Amino acid sequence: MSEEPPTIDVLAIAAHRDDVEQTCGGTLLRMRSLGVTTAILDLTQGEAGTRGSASERAAEAAAAARILGVSHREALDIPDGRVENTFENRLKIVAALRRLRPRVVILPYWSGRHPDHYTSATLGYEACFLSGLSKIETGTAPHRPFKIVYASLYADVRPTFVVDITPFIEDRHRALMAYQSQYASQAAGSGLFVPEEEIRERTFAEARHYGTLAGVRFAEPFIQKEVGLVDDLTLLPVQSL
Ligand SMILES: [Zn+2]
Repeated sequence: MSEEPPTIDVLAIAAHRDDVEQTCGGTLLRMRSLGVTTAILDLTQGEAGTRGSASERAAEAAAAARILGVSHREALDIPDGRVENTFENRLKIVAALRRLRPRVVILPYWSGRHPDHYTSATLGYEACFLSGLSKIETGTAPHRPFKIVYASLYADVRPTFVVDITPFIEDRHRALMAYQSQYASQAAGSGLFVPEEEIRERTFAEARHYGTLAGVRFAEPFIQKEVGLVDDLTLLPVQSL
């Protein structure tokens, strides 16, 4: 995680530190294994969480980033629990997009329980659009990502596609467990948080479910708004019967 981030191929944007680990960490690991450069932009710093301070969560996020093999990770200063789709917040994301210049952006899905999550979908989409407009002045060249996909794990929706994370499921779990302040068994918030031993069972079961949909062991779900384009029917993956 250098001061001068390299040009990024895939940038995952999420509301909270540890969201990416849960929704698309395996995909980032897979991309990394293919030689694709990855990065994470967290919109908030986690100061509103029941457990752990923002500085504890910063150290945990850095540890998780090392496990995920991302080239760069940073957190904006949008208030935790108050992610709002304002022009000011869009500009903060635009500045990061123009510095990192990703081809692909992963956003949270646009519907769900937590307002920060679904608001980040629209906020992130509109920032990606604005980032391509030269009239939006940030002192850096415009950049519009080529592709946006939505990580839909938190939402009960049928994915457009899944990414096979079978070889990476253990490392993904290690990255999530780097958030000791959130997941180590402890008294604070014990009625609200899932005990540590249940997290493995739950996250593996979710990944197994999405894997089953595509005939692999473990997978992460995504939505893309565009239709799929096929070149050769004989290369289409996922067996029909
Ligand atoms: Zn979250």
